[in-house]
Amino acid sequence: MKVAESNVQPALDSTLAGDLYRIVTDLYPICRSITGDGVRETLRHIQNIVPLSICEVPSGTRVFDWTVPREWNVRDAWVKTLDGDRVIDFRESNLHVVNYSVPVRARVSLAELKRHLHTLPEHPTWVPYKTSYYAETWGLCISAERLRTLNDSEYDVCIDSTLEDGHLTYGECYLPGESKNEVLLSCHICHPSLCNDNLSGISIATFLGQWLSRLPRRRLSYRLLFIPGTIGSITWLARNQDKVDAIRHGLVLTGLGGPGGLVYKRSRRTDAFIDRAAVNVLRHWSQDSEIRDFTPYGYDERQYCSPGINLPVGCLSRTPYGEYPEYHTSADDLSFVTADRLADSYRACRALIEVLEGNATYLTLNPMCEPQLGRRGLYGAMGGAAESRRHEMALLWVLNLCDGDHNLLDVAERSSLSFDAVRNAAVLLEEHGLLQQVHAQKADARLEHTRGNG
Ligand SMILES: [Zn+2]
Repeated sequence: MKVAESNVQPALDSTLAGDLYRIVTDLYPICRSITGDGVRETLRHIQNIVPLSICEVPSGTRVFDWTVPREWNVRDAWVKTLDGDRVIDFRESNLHVVNYSVPVRARVSLAELKRHLHTLPEHPTWVPYKTSYYAETWGLCISAERLRTLNDSEYDVCIDSTLEDGHLTYGECYLPGESKNEVLLSCHICHPSLCNDNLSGISIATFLGQWLSRLPRRRLSYRLLFIPGTIGSITWLARNQDKVDAIRHGLVLTGLGGPGGLVYKRSRRTDAFIDRAAVNVLRHWSQDSEIRDFTPYGYDERQYCSPGINLPVGCLSRTPYGEYPEYHTSADDLSFVTADRLADSYRACRALIEVLEGNATYLTLNPMCEPQLGRRGLYGAMGGAAESRRHEMALLWVLNLCDGDHNLLDVAERSSLSFDAVRNAAVLLEEHGLLQQVHAQKADARLEHTRGNG
């Protein structure tokens, strides 16, 4: 499938775009998996930017229907000719070893070796990314081009790995706000050298965490999870069932540095506040952004949205997994993600969080016909004609719908204006004594009321 270049908006500033890309570059060489030292090294790096607790859960721990697996670590892997030349070399790329391969050291025939090799014939220069988490086997991945050069009758194979009792490691950052109601931001940290599917989500979650941790005031509380995919979210949910009820909004962040417009996948509830907020932000973001319905496949939203958990958690990406040929291959590398696209995704996440933070219910103080805006200098205060018109419409919609029963997102939806425009109008009208915030927590109270109905 051909992916169109998206209308990426200019970066917030070049430093931010550079920071977002730099962490991708820094973490790229590390061989991560669902457990092991690669995850720990990654989390230590993130800890330099966000206050993160690192949790270790022993192998064998039962988590709902699953069991925390044994810990996997790999030091080296190779295939050598009998003359000692490395024809497949882990040091060249960690994708060459099938993730979770059991250790092996053997001399094998070419036919036997081929039974353990994975290639991508349709992209002969790329190396596929393969895992074998729950089946004990070993394997190596190479380009189809390289495979064609293997003509000897025998080769020496070594996978210097360990698969033994240890721990599953994840990182968690809790940032308390004025309300105990939480926003969950979750990303997976279990892929080795893959940039879009993995490091882009880590980068954006990390810098959102840094921004949130520095905010002078947070209305909501935030919980960031850096977890191995599937088993990590299952483990966190199994160990934190008492915390689940406080989660009012959630977002899985992944695939945010590659091509294509932003894609939001709704939560299982389909019309939760986070779903409505994402629809509003993306509709006003760029023409190629897209909203998709929930499906029980994908990333950790599968677990957060399982029927017994049923959290309002959506998933934000650019072109989704499996819809770009570079997905799960060596071509998802440092050239596949760009600093500008990372920054664009980051800005969209911030806009979404600003809806969660900034939503409120107001009451017009002048409900008997329209107040005279011209007298107060509120008409035509903006630049161009179109902008002035939008501004004027935002003022009129806010004055009309802010009767104490509609919050700002309701107004934005009804008026087809961006939340941002509606909020700016409300702030301006409040400054002019025409509007009063009724109940800062009213939106939360409404969510409280609807929780569990999904
Ligand atoms: Zn993946």
